[in-house]
Amino acid sequence: MPNSIAGPETALDAALPVPGQPAAAFDTGRVASLISQLLVELGEDPAREGLVGTPDRVAAWWSAFLSPDGAATATCFAESQLADQLVIVGGMSVWSLCEHHMLPMNLQVTAGYVPEGEVVGLSKFGRIAAHFAGRLQVQERFTEQFAEYITGVIGRKDVAVAVRGVHLCMSMRGVRMEAARTTTLHSGGRFATDPLLNQQFLAAAQWNAA
Ligand SMILES: [Zn+2]
Repeated sequence: MPNSIAGPETALDAALPVPGQPAAAFDTGRVASLISQLLVELGEDPAREGLVGTPDRVAAWWSAFLSPDGAATATCFAESQLADQLVIVGGMSVWSLCEHHMLPMNLQVTAGYVPEGEVVGLSKFGRIAAHFAGRLQVQERFTEQFAEYITGVIGRKDVAVAVRGVHLCMSMRGVRMEAARTTTLHSGGRFATDPLLNQQFLAAAQWNAA
């Protein structure tokens, strides 16, 4: 049997196009200057001791946030003997920004799929999640973009994604409910038609979110 299992050297680079990449080149100096203006409008003095480096730091953070990792392509490894196994990757925690309030949201992401003939490089799941989190987002769209990307990588719809989000726009403003959690679920292909498979995934997603 070992003869029929190909090693990593036969890796196929899925190299899917990555949609929704932040557009224009990021001008750090221009952003820093705008942050400085914002501080003035907020009644602050950007020249005072504590704020001197703030616009530059904020601009550098935005730049890093919007391009978390260019390497969001997924690598697949041939595993011809694999069948009927559920693979679940959980515990992925990414930070994004709510596009309605520009406040942080923390997303705990669990992904599941059923490999057929090849497996997806595990570390890529986290990178792909970070990639889609690194922009102004809503949790619902993040869940779909992440699920669609994995669907494209494996070439089948047998993908499930569970995301549990903590939104600062719910906890530090508005209703101020710190314990509120938002869950979004995507069940594609066999996960939509096979209740047992879907249930196995959801149970695992719950351990991972605990
Ligand atoms: Zn919000």
